Amino acid sequence: METKTNQFKAEIAEMLDLVVNSLYSKKEIFLRELISNASDAIDRAKYLGLTQKELLSDSPEWKIEVAVDSDAKTMMISDNGIGMDADELEKCLGTIASSGTKAFRKALKEKGGEALPELIGQFGVGFYAAFMVADKVRVVTKKRGQDAAFMWESDMSGGYTISDAERDGYGTSIMLHLRDDQHEYLDFWRVSELVKKYSDFIAYPINYRTVNVPADEKADDKKYREEREGKPLNTMVALWKRNKKDVKPEEYEEFYRHLTHDYDGPFETIPFSGEGAVEFKALLFIPKKATMELFMPQQKRGLSLYVRNVFIGDDIEMLLPNWLRFVKGVVDSSDLPLNVSREMLQDDAVIAKIKSAVTSKMLSFFEDLKKKPERYDEFWGAFGTILKEGVHTDYGNSDRIKKLIKYPTARGESGKRIFLEDYVKDMASGQKDIYYLVSEREEDARKAPQLEAARKHGCDVLLFCDPVDEFLTESLREFEGKKLVDVGKGDVSFGTEEEQKAEKEANEKAAGELKPFIEAVKKELEAKVSDVRVSTRLTDSPCCLVARENALSPSMVRMMRAMRETVPDEKRILELNATHPLVKKIAALSGAEQSDSIALLYDAALIAEGSPVTDGARFTKLLSDLMLK
Ligand code: ADP
Repeated sequence: METKTNQFKAEIAEMLDLVVNSLYSKKEIFLRELISNASDAIDRAKYLGLTQKELLSDSPEWKIEVAVDSDAKTMMISDNGIGMDADELEKCLGTIASSGTKAFRKALKEKGGEALPELIGQFGVGFYAAFMVADKVRVVTKKRGQDAAFMWESDMSGGYTISDAERDGYGTSIMLHLRDDQHEYLDFWRVSELVKKYSDFIAYPINYRTVNVPADEKADDKKYREEREGKPLNTMVALWKRNKKDVKPEEYEEFYRHLTHDYDGPFETIPFSGEGAVEFKALLFIPKKATMELFMPQQKRGLSLYVRNVFIGDDIEMLLPNWLRFVKGVVDSSDLPLNVSREMLQDDAVIAKIKSAVTSKMLSFFEDLKKKPERYDEFWGAFGTILKEGVHTDYGNSDRIKKLIKYPTARGESGKRIFLEDYVKDMASGQKDIYYLVSEREEDARKAPQLEAARKHGCDVLLFCDPVDEFLTESLREFEGKKLVDVGKGDVSFGTEEEQKAEKEANEKAAGELKPFIEAVKKELEAKVSDVRVSTRLTDSPCCLVARENALSPSMVRMMRAMRETVPDEKRILELNATHPLVKKIAALSGAEQSDSIALLYDAALIAEGSPVTDGARFTKLLSDLMLK
């Protein structure tokens, strides 16, 4: 092959420019990133070797080596993992994974160069961290199963070249020519310290080798050097196999970073082991923040799975229910056959049992977390929306999940959320049902006329303002034997039976008196509403719109239309407050004056619930006419 010279894609050039000029003090993370890549490459080789024995024809003894030459000022990180062919070299080291490109540039713009080391890891461009300490990088690699080796080389300035190369054995070596001010990494103790700090749990030995041994090395020095180079720099013990009390929090945090590339560290670390029907070890993490990916169906999710120390995959979805998709971590089980393929995992009984144990563990964890309200709210703020889905999608656990969800209420201050059990505890005397109102925005909900009667009767109302809440109402029909009732739909009545009876009578009387007016409104709004009736839910507002018991709410209709679904227009019911002076006044009008006022009344009901008026021009004209009068 001819030597190919390529320019870096714009976003890489931009990033490299920042890397070179970065004053960031933590340049040392380059070693963690390169060792992490080496470890991944061995994981992949081991996994593919399970089914393609020919890939392991050299019977490899898996290892990573850091070789240092203090004369030439170089450090070489080598592995005997999967290796790369020419195409992969080009694809992996010449571009940022296209999905991440935009997000990466955006984050870079927002956070600036200081945050670069974190961003590098987060966006799967860890390899480029090499340029924080090196002015020239050379990658020599030979892919398992192939004969040819290739070289990738760059000093950043002129892009990179790819050419033919020679390599003994399969795998990848990354040679760094260290910058003049980065020679600290030529020191054994510095390297050893970094490996301990960042990479101790890596499952393969990380060996150190001095390349430029002086010809006249003293016998003592030689002995000392051979001793320290004779054993790996890392302990290699998988963290999830160690006792929690023997692991330092920093070790868990480093492992979390290795696993997730999330440099914020975990919100919580949860090690546990499954015993009984299936034996397994797990190490689970809850991140601090939700990422956009959690809301994109095609994104990777799930836990990493090891079977008898062999890495099977880092996105085994079957290990977690969807509503726990924010949980990260590792499961290691020896109860699965080594030759499992991902397809087989789908219906595997052992996997199903692990999933159920993991789910149960997480539920207990959340139940405990409730005892620390501030921590719980922190967690809820990040992942509440996702957790709620479980009420709807995880039938077997929905009773436990219901106890974990929180809502703002009409009475509570904005930003404060309560559990359903707190709502039940504070119910007004005689209140039988749990009330809620669906709305797109909490501010709109707080002002909604539909809340008035509930307020009058001393009942609080849960505000369902998260898009997922609306779906939830289908499954969240009762809690602790109490029905959940939508105050924006159907017939609702508040208060004791006597109060309801009295109200009903008063209503019937008012309806009788208003009968001609109600008929006039029905006629006037024929095209817009299905019925007009006297309301039991209003005290201060003149009117409101309510849906039939089983109808979709206006916010749901808007959302479905936004998703390009065809939703037939469903006419709603206009409820009038029979004792309101405005209603009385309009009832006393006649002719065009009455028709115009009825049209305005209807528009006012739309505006009050946060819906747009249907004919803005007409509304404005009517309003200005009215104001002129
Ligand atoms: P990430 O590892 O997060 O995907 P990197 O920029 O660190 O991002 O690496 C890009 C890609 O280059 C990797 O996904 C992998 O395919 C390939 N790669 C990097 N280092 C090695 C290695 N030592 N052996 C094999 N492939 C590697």
